[in-house]
Amino acid sequence: MLLRHTPKEIKERSALTVNPAKTCQPVGAMYAALGIHRCLPHSHGSQGCCAYHRSALTRHYKEPVMATTSSFTEGSSVFGGQSNLVEAIGNIFTLYNPDVIAVHTTCLSETIGDDIGQIISKAREEGKIPAGKYVIHANTPSYIGSHVTGFANMVKGMVRYFPEKKAASGGAINIIAGWCEPADARELKRILFDMGIEGIVFPDTSDVLDTPLTGRYAMFPKGGVTVDRLKMTGSSAGTLALGAFASLPAAEELDARFKVRHEALDMPYGIKATDRFLDALMRISGKMVPVSLADERGRLVDMISDMEQYLYKRRVALFGDPDQLIPVTEFLVDIGMRPVYVVTGTPGNYFEERMAGILGDIPEAKFKHGDMFLLHQWIKNEKVDLLMGNTYGKYISRDDDIPFLRFGFPILDRTGHSYFHSVGYTGAMRFLERILNSLMDRQDRDAPEESFELVM
Ligand code: SF4
Repeated sequence: MLLRHTPKEIKERSALTVNPAKTCQPVGAMYAALGIHRCLPHSHGSQGCCAYHRSALTRHYKEPVMATTSSFTEGSSVFGGQSNLVEAIGNIFTLYNPDVIAVHTTCLSETIGDDIGQIISKAREEGKIPAGKYVIHANTPSYIGSHVTGFANMVKGMVRYFPEKKAASGGAINIIAGWCEPADARELKRILFDMGIEGIVFPDTSDVLDTPLTGRYAMFPKGGVTVDRLKMTGSSAGTLALGAFASLPAAEELDARFKVRHEALDMPYGIKATDRFLDALMRISGKMVPVSLADERGRLVDMISDMEQYLYKRRVALFGDPDQLIPVTEFLVDIGMRPVYVVTGTPGNYFEERMAGILGDIPEAKFKHGDMFLLHQWIKNEKVDLLMGNTYGKYISRDDDIPFLRFGFPILDRTGHSYFHSVGYTGAMRFLERILNSLMDRQDRDAPEESFELVM
C-alpha cells in the first residue's frame, strides 16, 4: 500500500510537505462563489487549473460545477492576461447571462501580477458588463494559505463589492456561514426560521450543489444568496462570522466599511459551539430559543449519556480544516473521547491557540499546522481508536487498520455529506451516531465468539 513505508522516526522538516492536508486557494474561491445566486465563477489562469478546481468540487458534491477560464496561453503568460479577461467577460455575459461573474486568480496570474480590479474597470469602460450585472474578484495565490484562505478571500470580495447602506435589511442578522455543506446552510436557515429571526446567510450553496434530479438542466439552480440580499448586509443589525479562518476577514471588512458590528464564533458543530451560536442569536435579536430547539438539545444529551461507555477515553486522530477541527475537537472532549492528534494544512496561529485551550487536560495531545505524513507518523508511534478526516485518510486507515470516519473536504468516495447536515444539535446527533457506528462495528468485528453481543 501507498503509505506502508511511512517511518516511525520523526525528523524535523521546515521546507518539505508530504501529503498536504489541504488543496489550493481557487478551489475555495470557486466554492464560495457558487453560493451566490446566478453566479458564474471565473478562473483567471490556464485551463488546467480551472479543470482541476471544477473536478475537485464535482467529485465531492457529485454535481456539475460550472466555471469559466481566461485560458492563458504562452502569450498571456508573458504579457499578462488582461485581453483574455476582458474578452472573457464579454463572452460570458453574451453566452451564459449570469448575474455575477466572480473572478479568482491562480498561481500564474498572481505571479505575472495582473491587476484584476483595473481589468474589470477596463471591461466596464469597454461596455462588456451589461447594466445590472456584476463582476467581483478575489486574489487567490495558491502558494500561500489553502483552499480555506481562497474561500475567505472570495467571501471578503463579496462584502467589498455588494453591500450598500441605502439597502435596508429590516434589522436582519448576517450569518457568514463559513465552509460548510449545502445541507448545513439549509439547517442554519431552519434554525433562524425556528427562532423567528430574519437572517442573511451567505455564501449559501443549498439548492446549488444538492439540487434534485428533475430531468431538466439548469445552468443556474434556484439556490444561493441573491445580489439584493448581499446589498442589504451593509445595514444589518450585526454579523456572526462562523469560523475564524473562512468568515472573519469578511465580517471585519463589513464592520470597517459599514459599522455592522461583528462577532466571531466557531462553526456550530457539537453541543457547546451550537449553544454559543444560539446565545449570540438571542443576544442580537432579542428572540428566545424555542422549545423545539431545546428538545433537540435534550435528545442529544440523552444520546450522549446513553452511549458514553463506548466513547470514554477512546483515542482519536483528526485532520482537516481549522474551522471544523476546533469545534469538532471540543465536541469529542465533551463526549469523553481523547483527541490526541490534530493536524491542519491551513496556516494560522489561532488554530494552535484554540487547540491548546481545548486539549489542555489531555497531556499526550499533539496538534500542529502540518501534513498527513506527520499525522501518520504520530499514529505509527502510538495507535488511535478512530481516525477522522477527508477521503485521503483512507490510506492511513487501511495501512494501520483503524476505523475511519469521513468528515470535511474533500470526500471523493462516499455520498451523503452534502445532503445531511452536521451543524446544530441534530447535526451533532448524526455525527455522534456515525462515531458510535464506527467504534461498535469494530468492536463486533474483533469480538471473540463468547463475547459477540446481540444487545450492545
Ligand atoms: S496550485 Fe496554482 S497552478 Fe496548481 S492548480 Fe492551484 S492555482 Fe493552478
